[in-house]
Amino acid sequence: MDTVLHDPFDREHLWHPYTSALDPLPTYKVASACGARITLADGRELIDGMSSWWCAIHGYNHPAINEAAVRQMERMSHVMFGGLTHDPAIELGKMLLEVAPPSMHNIFYADSGSVAVEVAMKMAVQASVARHGSHKRTNFITIRSGYHGDTWNAMSVCDPVTGMHGAFGPALPVRYFAPAPQIKPWEPWDDADFAPLETLMREHRDELAALILEPIVQGAGGMRFYHPEYLRRARALCDELGIYLIFDEIATGFWRTGRMFAWEHAGVEPDIMCIGKGLTAGYLTMSAVLTTREVAETISRGEAGVMMHGPTFMANPLACAIAVASLRLLREGDPAADVARIERILREEFAAAEGMPGVREVRVLGSIGVMEMEEPVDVGEFQKVCVRRGIWVRPFGRNVYVMPPYVISDDDLRTLVRETIACMQELC
Ligand SMILES: *Cc1c(COP(=O)(O)O)cnc(C)c1O
Repeated sequence: MDTVLHDPFDREHLWHPYTSALDPLPTYKVASACGARITLADGRELIDGMSSWWCAIHGYNHPAINEAAVRQMERMSHVMFGGLTHDPAIELGKMLLEVAPPSMHNIFYADSGSVAVEVAMKMAVQASVARHGSHKRTNFITIRSGYHGDTWNAMSVCDPVTGMHGAFGPALPVRYFAPAPQIKPWEPWDDADFAPLETLMREHRDELAALILEPIVQGAGGMRFYHPEYLRRARALCDELGIYLIFDEIATGFWRTGRMFAWEHAGVEPDIMCIGKGLTAGYLTMSAVLTTREVAETISRGEAGVMMHGPTFMANPLACAIAVASLRLLREGDPAADVARIERILREEFAAAEGMPGVREVRVLGSIGVMEMEEPVDVGEFQKVCVRRGIWVRPFGRNVYVMPPYVISDDDLRTLVRETIACMQELC
């Protein structure tokens, strides 16, 4: 047990996400992972409820993706993208444009979700400056309870209370925040939900380059779901005021919400869209920023004449080959049916938690099941119980949630949810 739980070197020297060096939360050593199961170093198997933070959509160790990776590695793992190009980047681009919003035309490959958000914000600024002929409209507006990543500008548009503003305060650029939308996708729409954002956007229109939103599902900022009409209103207002609309689909992409991308729930397209996480199916870090032709051309007609970004590992061929293999699996399979099956089982099983002491709300959308508690959950304690019960679930704040790989079996999924509820009961 202890070799799994407290590797002394790890504990002494390795940072983990959002972790203290003085009193780190426990970390469990993993030996391998396959399908929807994670095997710990002592041989215990856990049913995976996290898809390694939205990524491992096809489960771990997938033979088709493994094969694509090996094949690509034997040709080249990487070449610079400055002045060179390669089939994996081209093929991935073609496949992405087939599934992206129809108005998307230009693709920028970046290293991670956060960097994609940085690039999207830089694009919006460059395009806005070129479009309006001045540097006045370079700020951003968003909604509360959002999460867009951990780099500087991404942090600045994360929720100002639960996000990074507390730690970084005045070091962050100041953005405009409207209240988070309150109306759920399945509730009747009311214009009052959109009014505060509209007022704020009209008030600051002359300062704004773009509105950035996670469509339909706000992920790490609170696992909240909101009404598609909100996005339709946002699109119309952005058009009226000449403000770009950025959709951050890094968490919602690749069928997680029951559609290939979450914009489809609303039927309105962004000017700039960020994708990541599921893009490479949990194999390697890569993201992409997609834009309309208008955005790309406006940037290119601007003062700099070029898009001012170029990461060292841009369009990494290995990552691109993996993404191509993952997209093929989505194309050849029936992800809509997989996610519908998961959604149905999540609804059936999570219904048992409805009204339990300590549970504020249970909600399900696509392959995301959330049990929001009245009080914040002690992650360390919760995970000890999870691991003992044979599941892998990592709550944050008041949210205990699962979003399993799409390959999870019905039995494993039912066990996962039942044990998640049991863990919660043990701790309450
Ligand atoms: C995870 C996430 C990011 C950041 O992605 P990283 O790859 O962790 O940098 C940005 N936006 C959203 C919506 C995310 O869920």
